Amino acid sequence: MSIERCDDIDQLHPKVKELAEKLLNEAKKQGLNVKIIDTYRSKERQDYLYAQGRTRPGAIVTNAKGSDMSSYHNWRLAFDCIQNKKGDEYNSVFLAKLGKIGQSIGLEWGGGWSGFKDAPHFQYTFGLSIKDLKSGKKPPQVPVKDVAYEKAIQNLVLEGIIGSPAAWNKINLNNVLALISKIGVRLFDVNGYDLAVAKMVEAKIISSPAIWKDKKYTEQNTRDLIVKISSYLG
Ligand SMILES: [Zn+2]
Repeated sequence: MSIERCDDIDQLHPKVKELAEKLLNEAKKQGLNVKIIDTYRSKERQDYLYAQGRTRPGAIVTNAKGSDMSSYHNWRLAFDCIQNKKGDEYNSVFLAKLGKIGQSIGLEWGGGWSGFKDAPHFQYTFGLSIKDLKSGKKPPQVPVKDVAYEKAIQNLVLEGIIGSPAAWNKINLNNVLALISKIGVRLFDVNGYDLAVAKMVEAKIISSPAIWKDKKYTEQNTRDLIVKISSYLG
């Protein structure tokens, strides 16, 4: 098992990743050279850090145990930053400036805490406590912004194929059958799902007929199909 540090922002919750990127951009604008050094921590990694200053030499760096999932890093909602300058990584003036920027874009900054201060630390908790998270409450799943898909939905609304765009913000696979049937009627003058699929294969909108014939389509398949239909409409 690895107890290596993970600095990959892709390991963060999408919303937190977005904020981390925003923080880096804002900091850059203000001439701050920031490096993200820690994002997601496994239980093992957190326990390893907890042991520092307790059963391992060094100064105490955290009060959160990994085995009980009590750090927001364990939940992909926190990351740590330093100044990207050898020998001056934890410069307090630098981290305070960065902390202010973080707070201004909606992040919680560890340097602003009243008790134990953690200046490199930023988190975004969605208002969920560690206790909430442990009891199974989940941060909202933020969909990755998909511009092509959003445009396609707008297009299908204009064509009268989709009535409510809001219903397609998130794909509900139960609605796909009706959508395809409607497309059959509107674009190809055929009735029913199977005929609609056949026509879409003919029109080269569908390139993998089997998944549609067997109704084994996924959310992503549906997303791709909607974009293709939109470009077919022109
Ligand atoms: Zn941290």
